[in-house]
Amino acid sequence: MTYRAEYIWIDGSEPTKFLRSKTNVLPTGAEIPIWGFDGSSTNQAPGSESDCVLQPVMTVPDPIRGGDNVLVLCEVLLTDMSPHATNTRRACAEATEHYSHLEPWLGIEQEYTLYKDGRPLGWPPGGYPAPQGGYYCGIGDDEVFGRDLVEAHTTACIEAGLAISGTNAEVMMGQWEFQIGPLDPVTCADQVWLARWLLYRIGEDFGISATLDPKPIQGDWNGAGAHANFSTAQMREDYDAVIAAAEALGKNHDYHIENYGAGIERRLTGLHETAPWTEYNYGVSDRGASVRIPWQVEKERRGYLEDRRPNANCDPYLVTRLITETVCGAASP
Ligand code: ADP
Ligand code: MN
Ligand code: MN
Ligand code: MN
Repeated sequence: MTYRAEYIWIDGSEPTKFLRSKTNVLPTGAEIPIWGFDGSSTNQAPGSESDCVLQPVMTVPDPIRGGDNVLVLCEVLLTDMSPHATNTRRACAEATEHYSHLEPWLGIEQEYTLYKDGRPLGWPPGGYPAPQGGYYCGIGDDEVFGRDLVEAHTTACIEAGLAISGTNAEVMMGQWEFQIGPLDPVTCADQVWLARWLLYRIGEDFGISATLDPKPIQGDWNGAGAHANFSTAQMREDYDAVIAAAEALGKNHDYHIENYGAGIERRLTGLHETAPWTEYNYGVSDRGASVRIPWQVEKERRGYLEDRRPNANCDPYLVTRLITETVCGAASP
């Protein structure tokens, strides 16, 4: 008897890394072994030294195949077992460990756009749908496109044991969001990558592709972000710590912008519920700010903040690590 382990890893595509996976058929009862792949086909190695190593870091039930089959998220290593240059997870795991005494939590809102026939799902050929207004959290056959796929994806995330905490239709027709968390920084990022893989995989069955392009359609159409909600144990008790975190993020703005996803200047224009990428500000309830403090957090004098800057196509390992290091680094004695 056998079972199948789908090994999933992050490639070296530029400027935005993408997911890859392949199947290992294993004897029933066998442990998940280290494996390898051809790095010269993923922009991760020259052909003369093409072997890269897959180090399993998280195994979950495979909701696509069911049974004993599993999905295996991996880190990419060199053959000397050191992290590959494209491996951003290792540093994220180290930061998570380093600041674990402050109990950082991340919740990511992953926005994405569904595509079919080269245009966003539901859009008319060669033209535009009615202007934005009714699509966000909409209902009805003329407003909402792709719900069957979204439901199948949510079910798959739950069956895989991921901490998916909600979904909604977004402001642009054909755009959606799912939320993962709150979880510790590296686990949140692991689960966002796995949830992205499930989204693409389930899209195959529906003949619909998902893109994380931060601004799929120019003009008066919302872009796609990955708002990152963050708290420490102290912030969850004390509003002054929430303000201190918002101030700390402002001191490191440029570094965060550089690492929040390719094409961020196309999305953070100052329009469409964004702050311009060249400036930093924060505010209560303000969806035009870089960082928003939810109104309940101000009212209850404790909670979390929302970093609205990350692009949909960000690397969540970079985003969760940077927020943790910037806020916890400033908070540490
Ligand atoms: P929005 O109003 O911005 O659309 P959502 O409901 O989509 O907000 O997302 C809120 C996110 O905040 C969720 O991912 C949730 O897990 C996360 N979250 C809630 N409480 C905390 C907390 N204390 N620390 C970090 N993240 C949190
Ligand atoms: Mn949201
Ligand atoms: Mn959203
Ligand atoms: Mn949000």
